[in-house]
Parts: sequence; structure tokens; C-alpha cells
Amino acid sequence: MADCSAYKELIQLVIDNESSSKEETYLRKHMKMCLKCLSQYEIDKELKEVLKLKLEKKQVPAGLSETIRNKLIK
Ligand SMILES: [Zn+2]
Repeated sequence: MADCSAYKELIQLVIDNESSSKEETYLRKHMKMCLKCLSQYEIDKELKEVLKLKLEKKQVPAGLSETIRNKLIK
């Protein structure tokens, strides 16, 4: 069984669009079997969206941070 900590870095790369398509395929294959990495990916992706909106000084949709919090609790 693969060690999930090895995928953490890969998740960041994929979210930042800095991974190769081969790496992305590798990660996606793993996420189909691993709920832990899948939720990590979705939380990080959502957080990045929030940061992006903040950087662009757009209004962050109300309740979004709560959504993330709920996911973390689950
Ligand atoms: Zn995993």
C-alpha cells in the first residue's frame, strides 16, 4: 500500500498546475481508491480558490470557509 504522505506534495503540484500529465494521472488513480487524499485534494483546491479570490480582491462567497471547515471535521 502506498504511503499517502508521498502524494501530499503531488496534490499541491496538480492544484498549482505544475505537475506533468503523467503525475496527474498517477495521483488521480490513487485518489479513486483513497478517500483521504481525495478530500485533501478537494480541500486544498477550495482553499486555493479562496486565496485567489482574495488576491484578486474579489468578494469571497459567504459560507465558503464554513464549507471547508465542515469538510475538515468529516
Ligand atoms: Zn492516499
